[in-house]
Amino acid sequence: MINKVPSNRQNIPAKVSQSLIDQFGRTVDYIRLSITDRCDFRCVYCMAEEMTFLPRNEVLSLEECARLVKVFVSLGVSKVRITGGEPLVRKNALWLFETIGKLDGLNELVLTTNGSQLEKQAQDLKNTGVKRINISVDSLNPERFKKITRTGELDKVLRGIQAAKLAGFESIKLNTVIMRGVNDDEILSLVDFAIAQEIDISFIEEMPLGDVDHTRESTFYSNTDTLKVLQSKHPLTASNETTGGPARYWRVTNTHTKIGFISPHSHNFCESCNRVRITCKGELYLCLGQEDKVELMPLLRNHLKNDQPLIDAILGSMAIKPKGHDFDLKRAEPAVIRFMSHTGG
Ligand code: SAM
Ligand code: SF4
Repeated sequence: MINKVPSNRQNIPAKVSQSLIDQFGRTVDYIRLSITDRCDFRCVYCMAEEMTFLPRNEVLSLEECARLVKVFVSLGVSKVRITGGEPLVRKNALWLFETIGKLDGLNELVLTTNGSQLEKQAQDLKNTGVKRINISVDSLNPERFKKITRTGELDKVLRGIQAAKLAGFESIKLNTVIMRGVNDDEILSLVDFAIAQEIDISFIEEMPLGDVDHTRESTFYSNTDTLKVLQSKHPLTASNETTGGPARYWRVTNTHTKIGFISPHSHNFCESCNRVRITCKGELYLCLGQEDKVELMPLLRNHLKNDQPLIDAILGSMAIKPKGHDFDLKRAEPAVIRFMSHTGG
């Protein structure tokens, strides 16, 4: 694996602002928190076949996660997405959802999951206040699903989707990464499935995060092509709906389904970026596609009863939020050496 040393910029200028506004005037009101780097799947675009996971003491405890979220919410964050790795394989993850679900000022608690644990956990998650849920599904063919995830059982995930529907989340959305020559023949069937289930679906372009077992250029399938395939069958209307994120949405006429496109390559979404990411190691990444980060774990562990150093570091980090990502598929090495499962999707 290429060993690129990240430019760990810890020299943060003195506090610049009392709120989460960066140097380009973007307000950060959304955090994505990865609560584990572990996962029961090994999706080919996300992980290498052989992965080394972090030792337990290098991962934020759930109490530390809860404390971090509380501090961010006190600084104006109103939306939190819990992700991973697979967040629902973390023991006692439900405790975290229950704890942060009660925070005043947190309007949206949402989750991204591979769906493998939803059959058991969907109702409990709904009861903690989780509003919306994204479930990753890249194929409806069991053998292909196994090939893409390397370990996953499609049936279990489909039962998870039914459990989520029964639990009554405000919205359920499938997340799909289309890869050329792997699942590009399923674009229509995945959307037909979403329409039949009366749920939404978003297509995410494959991003060069982490050193996986194929070259990204060989499998890249642009959302422009995905949209063309869909327009050949479905009447679609562009929508200006937004979830405050990078997705552009289209409505499928006469259905309950909207289709999102997250296209970091064909459409740069950085101008309206409202988010930061926190890894399960407590690294605050200011951009998914750049290395600028602030280490929050030492501040959590060295100041057990005093949040001020943490608050100062978070406010100061706004000064190093980059203007945008720098994805280039033609580069031999990944744009960013860390895997999506490390940063949190
Ligand atoms: N395990 C959960 C899941 O799969 O939904 C949550 C974490 S996963 C890292 C979050 C999202 O990132 C998933 O929808 C996955 O498809 C997407 N993802 C992972 N690696 C990616 C990559 N290299 N490019 C684009 N999307 C990726
Ligand atoms: Fe696991 Fe999600 Fe990555 Fe797949 S995309 S390996 S389910 S973290």
